[in-house]
Amino acid sequence: MLHVLAAAVFLGSNLLSCCFYCLCEGFVIPFSTSSKLPLDSSKAVVADRTRTREELLQAARDGFRAAFGAPPDPQHEYAAWAPGRVNLIGEHTDYNGGFVLPCALERGTVVLAAGRLVRADAADAGRVRVASMDCRGGDGMLTFAALPEELGPGEESWGNYVRGAIAQYLGDVPEGRALALDMFIVGSLPLGGGLSSSASLTTAVATLVEAVLEGEGWQAPEDARVKARRCRRAEHDFLGTPCGIMDQFASALCPPGHAILLDCASETFEPVPLDDGAVTLVITDSRVTHSLGQRGSQYPVRVAQCAAAARAVGADSLRSAELPALEQEAKRGGMSEVELARARHVVTENERCVNFADALRKRDYDAAGAAMLESHASLRDNYEVSAPELDKLVELAAATDGVYGSRLTGAGFGGCTVTLAQTDAVPALVRRLRRGYKEAFGLDCACFATRAGGGARVLLRPRP
Ligand code: ADP
Ligand code: MG
Repeated sequence: MLHVLAAAVFLGSNLLSCCFYCLCEGFVIPFSTSSKLPLDSSKAVVADRTRTREELLQAARDGFRAAFGAPPDPQHEYAAWAPGRVNLIGEHTDYNGGFVLPCALERGTVVLAAGRLVRADAADAGRVRVASMDCRGGDGMLTFAALPEELGPGEESWGNYVRGAIAQYLGDVPEGRALALDMFIVGSLPLGGGLSSSASLTTAVATLVEAVLEGEGWQAPEDARVKARRCRRAEHDFLGTPCGIMDQFASALCPPGHAILLDCASETFEPVPLDDGAVTLVITDSRVTHSLGQRGSQYPVRVAQCAAAARAVGADSLRSAELPALEQEAKRGGMSEVELARARHVVTENERCVNFADALRKRDYDAAGAAMLESHASLRDNYEVSAPELDKLVELAAATDGVYGSRLTGAGFGGCTVTLAQTDAVPALVRRLRRGYKEAFGLDCACFATRAGGGARVLLRPRP
C-alpha cells in the first residue's frame, strides 16, 4: 500500500508540473501531460523539447521504484522504447489497398521492467504487474495472469494494450516455463490525440517481451513485420479496434531519420530519407473533434462509397482503378457523383503519395509541399473529411514564408495538421498558427516540432 501511495504522490507531482508548463503563454505547448519544456521558447520550437528517451527512462526508473518498492534487479532489468507516428501523406488510402507514408516521431513510450521466465509451477508463474504514469489501475497498478488459458481482455482499456501485446508471445514461451513481469510505463504522447500512443504502447511492450525471451535463448523472427502484425492483432483482439497496418508498422519499423512508403495491399515498405536538418515537421493539434465526423458514423460510409466505386469499374479495390474509367462509368450512371469524388481522392492520393516519396528522396521540398497542399484540398473537397479549423491551420501555414506544405493528418473532422517547413521558419510559423487560430476561433492550438525518429528498440538488457 505504501508503494501505491508513493506512486500516487509521484504521479501527482508530475501532473502538476505539466499544468504549469501548459499554462505558459508563448511556448510551443506540448500535448502531453508528462512533457517538460525549457524556459527558452525559441529553442523549444526547433527541437522537440519534450522529454528525451533518456529522461523518460529515468522517469520510468523513479516510477518503478515508487510502484514496486525497489528498482528492478539488474540481472532481470529490461527497457524498451517505441515511438508514436504521424502520417505525412496518403490519407484514407489504407483500407483501399493503397499507399501511406508515415514517419516515427521523437515522442513515444518507454517500458521499464523486471522480467524473466520462471518454472511453470513457481508462485509467480505468469504474474504480470503493470503501472503507468499516464493511466491508473484499480489500486495504482494492474495485475493479471499471462498464461495461455487465462489471458484475455480485462476491465481497464489501457491494460488491454498490454495484455494484448503479451498474449501474442505466449506461444513462444518454452514448455514448462512462464513469464513473470513487473512493468512501469512512461510516455510523451497525447493519449487519443491521433499520434498513435496505442501502437506506441503495444509495440514497446512487444519489444520488451521479445527482449526478455531473447534473454532466455529465443530468437525474434528475422522479418520485423511479424512484430508489427502481432501488435495490430493485439488491438484487434483485445480492444476490438479494426485498425489497419500503418501505426504498428511505423512504430516498429521506421529506420531512424526515415519515413516509410508503405503499400497497404502487399504490406511491403520502402524507407524514405527524411534526415535533412534544414527541414522540420510541425504537428498542430486543432483541439477540436466534430461529432459529425465521428468515425462511428462517417468512416463506414466512406468505406462503403469507395467499395461501391471500385465495384462499378470491376476492380477489387480502388488501388487498381483508373480515373478515366471511373469518370466514364459515373457518366453512364454506374456510380453517384459523390462516389466518384471519393474515388477521385483515393486514386489521386495514391499518386501523390508515391510522388511525395520521390520528392523527399530528391530533397525537392517544394514538390513534396505541393503534394501535401493538394492532398489537403482533396480531403476537403473530394473526400469531405476536413473541418473549418483544419482548413484555417493549413491556410495559415501555407501563407508563412519558409513553409513547403501542410495538410490534415489522420481520419479528419478535427485532430491534427502536419506541416513541412524550413527549420529556420518554425518559430515564425508557430507564432502565426497560434495567433491566427486564436483570432479565427478563439481557440488555442498546440504545436510541436519534430524530426523523423526511429522505430522501436530495446534500451536496456541485463549484462551477460
Ligand atoms: P491514439 O493511438 O491516437 O493515441 P487511441 O485511442 O488509439 O488513440 O489509444 C489511446 C489509448 O492507448 C489510451 O486511452 C490508453 O488506453 C492507451 N495508452 C497509450 N499510451 C499509454 C500510456 N503511456 N499508459 C497507459 N495507457 C496508454
Ligand atoms: Mg491508436
